[in-house]
Amino acid sequence: MIIPSALPEKAFLSHAPGYWRDKNVSPSDWNSSTWQLKNRVTSLAGLEEHLVLADEERAGVLLSGNKLAMAITPHYFNLIDRVDPDCPIRRQVIPRIEETLDDPAEMADPCGEDSHMPVPGLVHRYPDRVLFLVTDRCASYCRYCTRSRVVSGVGEQTMQLEHEMAFKYLEQHTEVRDVLLSGGDPLLFSDGKLEGILKRLRSIPHIEFIRIGSRIPIFLPQRITPELCQMLQRYGLWMSIHTNHPRELTTEVREGLERLANHGIPLGNQSVLLRGVNDDPDVMKSLVQKLLMCRVRPYYLYQCDLIKGSSHLRTSVSKGIEIIESLRGHTTGYAVPQFVIDAPGGGGKVPLNPDYILQRDEQRVLIRNYEGEAFEYPEPASVAATELAGVLR
Ligand code: SF4
Repeated sequence: MIIPSALPEKAFLSHAPGYWRDKNVSPSDWNSSTWQLKNRVTSLAGLEEHLVLADEERAGVLLSGNKLAMAITPHYFNLIDRVDPDCPIRRQVIPRIEETLDDPAEMADPCGEDSHMPVPGLVHRYPDRVLFLVTDRCASYCRYCTRSRVVSGVGEQTMQLEHEMAFKYLEQHTEVRDVLLSGGDPLLFSDGKLEGILKRLRSIPHIEFIRIGSRIPIFLPQRITPELCQMLQRYGLWMSIHTNHPRELTTEVREGLERLANHGIPLGNQSVLLRGVNDDPDVMKSLVQKLLMCRVRPYYLYQCDLIKGSSHLRTSVSKGIEIIESLRGHTTGYAVPQFVIDAPGGGGKVPLNPDYILQRDEQRVLIRNYEGEAFEYPEPASVAATELAGVLR
């Protein structure tokens, strides 16, 4: 299939080999997920080899070691602007000194996951579905990660990585019909290890729906091999990817997503609203429209969780509502994600929308459309009463 990429702001650009050009990386190395993982940028020296860092970034890198590790795949690193510290890509993965700021509203576990864990690694907050945290490692680390207390292995807590208790819990709890595999990033596992987990889940008769949450299609598209897609296809699952900025959707990413879609894997995207990254209606519009071109349905736009050290990345809630207002009616309905806040402390997702209801009583609802025009919709009871009055007259 040929996906158009004609409009410049929506162009899918390849970024291989970018900064690595002078290192003579062979195409076979570049296209290998093993090479990409081995050559991640993980140190200040590695960053400074390629970038001019701001003081805030240099200090942030030096202090990030016991909070959330820094690791950036060469593929993703190539998207970074060399000199601009406000680059939306580098804000997502390069630590800044602001991460050490103390905001009393922020928490290590902002979604209250630990208090909803009946067994280690399994979050059971909603009646019929669970979040199964299968690993604490990712291809690259997002500075706003909701699970930075455990992810990357250097934070405040460690993650239980033994899965047997979770499988036993799932076998016993017949009310669970939906399992989301996350972490960390499950696609970091080898095909064989991931298949072992999927096989075990599929052997539990009451589990109807399996999803994988992954940012690997964005950080490491080289991992989306035909063999992986063929294996996933056997287990009839869905995938939630995570992308925040249109520049992240490169030709390599688009090809990986297309490969997944061609293997019958329905794709949704979750974005996090981040200051200086995507808190702009035009940026979000370009992102969601590009996602549709990659056959990915924009699904959620999250208000950034109250994770410790995230104040420089969080926006006001009204910014998210403004973005949804700028999309709804102005672009394809499929492209409009649901804006949500994951209620602090563990209340679950709460949808937030622009207010389209101007007035409402028993007889009618006064609504406005995306252009601000008002319309009246009569409630069924009043229609029935009017009809009845006409018959009786
Ligand atoms: S990929 Fe997901 S789990 Fe990993 S650091 Fe980013 S947000 Fe956290």
